[in-house]
Amino acid sequence: MKIDITELMNHRSYRIDFDYRFDPGKTDAECVGLPDDIRICENGIHVTGTVSDNLGIMTFSAEVSAEYETVCARCLEELHRSIDFPVERTVVVSGSGSGRSFDKSHLSDDGEWDGVTDDVLFANESWILPDADIIEELSLRLPMFSLCSDDCPGLCPKCGKPLKDGPCGCEEEEYVNPQMAILKKLLENKD
Ligand SMILES: [Zn+2]
Ligand SMILES: [Zn+2]
Repeated sequence: MKIDITELMNHRSYRIDFDYRFDPGKTDAECVGLPDDIRICENGIHVTGTVSDNLGIMTFSAEVSAEYETVCARCLEELHRSIDFPVERTVVVSGSGSGRSFDKSHLSDDGEWDGVTDDVLFANESWILPDADIIEELSLRLPMFSLCSDDCPGLCPKCGKPLKDGPCGCEEEEYVNPQMAILKKLLENKD
């Protein structure tokens, strides 16, 4: 989503509110994709918040929420999950041209931005494109894996049925440590 910030740039306004949804699969934002086992639900990623100008420092501040489908890492059951988190960025206007451009004192000697680039959202003179940052933040915040329940017993290694549905009928083979077996035999022969 392109958020128009010309009102801020022209000092006609000090705050722009936004409220939109986007489909991360259909955005043209250049960014890392989401993990393969995550599918964002139909209503997309919901983003609400403000871009504000506080004495020349522009801040992008949003609440992001999304519902997604994934699978249990142990039993492969389909799961419906949701996530919400804030995204805060300092908006830095880059590029030349008239109007406000960003303070060159933030540049180091070799011309590199010396701030924490992770917290910076670069903008041009008239708009910001926050969706790539939002997708990136989302991929960082998604759990490494999901479970249907913390004690999900997974699948039967023999027949592949989910064990939480009850016994699958396969016999459980008892593992006996060979050394213990010898000891047991010795003890049995003792009498
Ligand atoms: Zn499970
Ligand atoms: Zn089984």
